[in-house]
Amino acid sequence: MSVFEHEEFSDHECVCFISDQPTNLRAIIAIHNTVLGPSGGGIRFFPYQNSEQALCDVLRLSKAMTYKFALAGLPLGGGKSVIMGNPKTDKTESLLEAFGKAVDRLGGRYTCGEDVGMSPDDMTVIHRQTKFVAGLPGKSGDTSPPTAYGVYQAILAGVSKRLGREDLTGISVAVQGVGNVGWHLCKLLKEAGARIYVADVDKEAVLKAVDAFGLETVGVEEILYLDTDVLAPCALGAVLNDRTIHKIQAKIICGAANNQLAEERHGKMLMDRNILYIPDFVANAGGAISGSRDVTGASESEAKQRIEAIYATCNQLFSFVEKERIPMNEAANRLAEEVIRSKILYA
Ligand code: NAD
Repeated sequence: MSVFEHEEFSDHECVCFISDQPTNLRAIIAIHNTVLGPSGGGIRFFPYQNSEQALCDVLRLSKAMTYKFALAGLPLGGGKSVIMGNPKTDKTESLLEAFGKAVDRLGGRYTCGEDVGMSPDDMTVIHRQTKFVAGLPGKSGDTSPPTAYGVYQAILAGVSKRLGREDLTGISVAVQGVGNVGWHLCKLLKEAGARIYVADVDKEAVLKAVDAFGLETVGVEEILYLDTDVLAPCALGAVLNDRTIHKIQAKIICGAANNQLAEERHGKMLMDRNILYIPDFVANAGGAISGSRDVTGASESEAKQRIEAIYATCNQLFSFVEKERIPMNEAANRLAEEVIRSKILYA
């Protein structure tokens, strides 16, 4: 397994491989860039098939955090961590504590938060060993509602741009994955009068959403290809790829899932198909904005305003794309890189 030569390496400042034999902990903490400030990012607990897959995931996710904070106007850098294992069977308190000690050894260069496979209770266990934890119960709290709120703002911006509509009444949205964020997004969409279709591999999650909101359900194989106004990927990454893009019928793609594009070149394929893709790290920044309050000391209302500014950031991207005739993902990357280069936080 190569690291410096890895195609996703992208000049990471620091990549730590953590092993703790007594607890069977195997984890990687990646710090991509701290030019704007100390790094922050979630912990993903996932049954990776091998360490190569885990490394690839953590490198892509931490770089996206750098860009996310830059475009959200926050003085923070990008980091992320992955713990290898099945969260349902391999997660123990001693393993989480060993991970907490590893975070603490970094002395604040990385603050961790929740991501897939982790719960607020797990974060409390990690907090026993390190103060560098964001999003704890009683502090900024669960990141899922603010993430959903940010995605909702980005959908509003996309619908205004692509469909010329300022509200979501009757707008059809296909939500892939009704877990933490997907559920809260459905709530907001329902309140806004959208027509919602959902699919999830977890039947209980689907039933819960149907009970709460009376939505229409479709099969997990169909959800990506429905003829809807909006497709909102809210499950895992790489759903926009060579196999799927040519079959997608939605006019706008905007969801919470990280790393939706399997590769950067897929952004151009979406543009060529006249599908408006709102880059994930723009749309899903709400949770990071909310969690960052524990580091920056910002108030809840300041964070809310910043999340609502995702709408304006999308408009800025639309203008840039029109001027430069480049795909949305390239525009977002370039704007974020400019913020990091100039160190001027504008949002
Ligand atoms: P979650 O695990 O609570 O929900 C994901 C849901 O997707 C689960 O219900 C799962 O069963 C479902 N799923 C998995 N594979 C699927 C498939 N092939 N088809 C349909 N459904 C499938 O996770 P979450 O916290 O809601 O996060 C969702 C996505 O958003 C992740 O990619 C996460 O990294 C990203 N994200 C989350 C946050 C946050 O604050 N939670 C912030 C930014 C980004």
